[in-house]
This record gives sequence, structure tokens and C-alpha cells, in this order.
Amino acid sequence: MQLIADLHTHTCCTTHAYQTLNEMAAAAKACGYRALAVTDHGPAMPDAPHIWHFGNWNILPRCIDGVAMLYGVEANVMDIFGGLDVSQKMLADMDWVVASIHSPCVPGTLSRKEADRLWHGVAENPYVDCIGHSEQQHYRYDYQELTRLFAKHHKVVELNGNSFRVRRDGLPNMKALLTACMENGCSIAVNSDAHNSGQLSDGLSSVTGLLEELAFPQELIVNADAHTFVQELRLHQKSCAEEIGGILL
Ligand SMILES: [Zn+2]
Ligand SMILES: [Zn+2]
Repeated sequence: MQLIADLHTHTCCTTHAYQTLNEMAAAAKACGYRALAVTDHGPAMPDAPHIWHFGNWNILPRCIDGVAMLYGVEANVMDIFGGLDVSQKMLADMDWVVASIHSPCVPGTLSRKEADRLWHGVAENPYVDCIGHSEQQHYRYDYQELTRLFAKHHKVVELNGNSFRVRRDGLPNMKALLTACMENGCSIAVNSDAHNSGQLSDGLSSVTGLLEELAFPQELIVNADAHTFVQELRLHQKSCAEEIGGILL
């Protein structure tokens, strides 16, 4: 499977990641990617950049060395109502918003009902594009009900290569999550969540192997094809959609 973009990556603005924006763009190009989303951690994580990091996008180039750049955030879910650590006003100006649960922000284990409520709230947030690494066992939710809702609200469920390294507890859930996505027509993205440039290409083979095993339909993978990706940006009413389309199509 050839992907055209990685939609969840970190730069050294997240302090436990180690490459600059330009280094990540060069690495994306070397992988054959045509687009790259940089999504450093929202301010509630201890390693996050200052909130000003997320309000200065217009000084950055749309394209670096031929790679179309999307500037966004991996926002933190903060409560069981799906509240995030970045204001709606700031999220509205982001090219790509991943919403994820991290244990410093949601400690402990959620009941199924709490996790359902949480993702329900995120699904209804108009500025969220992607549901980050949600297969974790201690935040297990109703995949059937929620993937129906994600599909309705054009939220893309992420399959995260880094989960195979750092969130192994949830790996047995990935098949059920993907099956629910297939049954409910919910789109997915295959992302590295790279914290260094080498990780862009490493670690995705486990995800792609799983997709092949399930014969997951390519048209539901938003970063497998430029037309599908640009169409998804349009569905999300992203102001960058036409500019990105002009580069990719
Ligand atoms: Zn994360
Ligand atoms: Zn991440």
C-alpha cells in the first residue's frame, strides 16, 4: 500500500520529538509522500509547545520542497464530554486537528459509558478531523455506535503506527475497530505519529498488514489517494482544501 500523506506527526516543538519542520518535510519527501500534517501536542501535555505555537501558521510555507504542508494540532481530550485543551477559535484556523486521549489528561480507566460519552462529544466538535489512537483498552468504547457517528460527522479514525511501539495494550482492539469502520463506512487514516524522521516510514507495516488481512477498502483510507484526501478536506470544510487540492491534483 502506497500512502500519499502522513496526517499525524510531531516536530521538536513537542519536546520529546527531535526533528525540525524542514527535516520532517524532507523525510516525508524521501518516503514518497506528497503531503504532511504536523500535529504537535496541545498545551495540556507536559511536553507541549506554548499555545502561541498554534497561532502563527501564516508565516509558514504551504509547500516545503514539493510537500504540501498542513499545520495543526494533536489536541488533548480533557473530560468525558469530549472537551479539548485548545479553544474552538484556534481550532477553526487549523488545517488538521487530531483529537487524542493521553493519560496525563484523562488518568485511569474510563467505563464504556464514559468513553462513549467522551467520543460522542468529540464527534460533534465541528473542528476535529481525526480520532487519534483510540484503540486503547482502558478507554474502550462502543465501536459500532461511535464509528456510525464518526462517519456521519466526517471524522476520520486513525490507525497509528506508533501504537505498536507504545500502546500495545490496545492492539487486540484494532481489528474490531477497523471492522466497525468497514461496516459503517467510516473513513480511516494510516499515520505514523512520528516523533523523529525515521519513524515516518518505520512501524507502518503492522498497520498495513492488518488492513490487507481484513481487505479494508482503499476508498475509505483518506491518505491513500490524493483525490480522496482533498475530497475529505472539502467535506471537513477546511479553508486549506482548495490550496492543497491545487498542489496535489
Ligand atoms: Zn498521541
Ligand atoms: Zn502524537
